[in-house]
Amino acid sequence: MDCLFCRMVAGDVPATVVHETDRTLAFRDINPQAPTHVLVIPKDHHATVGALAADDPDLLAAVVRAAADVAVQEGLATADGVEPGYRVVTNTGPAAGQTVHHVHLHVLGGRSLTWPPG
Ligand code: 5GP
Ligand code: ZN
Repeated sequence: MDCLFCRMVAGDVPATVVHETDRTLAFRDINPQAPTHVLVIPKDHHATVGALAADDPDLLAAVVRAAADVAVQEGLATADGVEPGYRVVTNTGPAAGQTVHHVHLHVLGGRSLTWPPG
């Protein structure tokens, strides 16, 4: 299977890595939509967040934990609080605009984020 994010995990495609654990990888989005825009992925391939939740809930928890750690590291939240705040988004399927079919959490922050999103 030819998967861009699996190739990043393997080190075959360069990425600006900001956080890594034994099971997760986080790197800057190539086309940032906010001053901070980091993608957090499981190193194992799962197509969508729903598939990941069904197949390996512990790994989903590890990905969410990594996203929270990235937010603290990037200054989007204090370790014991939520200020100034950030957004975690995962797109599933064409209607939501999913373009890479290896589940990823977008961690967005550094500006005021409107709600509802587009
Ligand atoms: P999706 O549209 O699937 O929710 O998000 C895919 C994200 O991957 C997009 O925000 C896009 O900018 C990012 N992306 C696509 N190709 C690359 C790449 O080669 N490197 C990095 N760092 N991000 C990428
Ligand atoms: Zn993959």
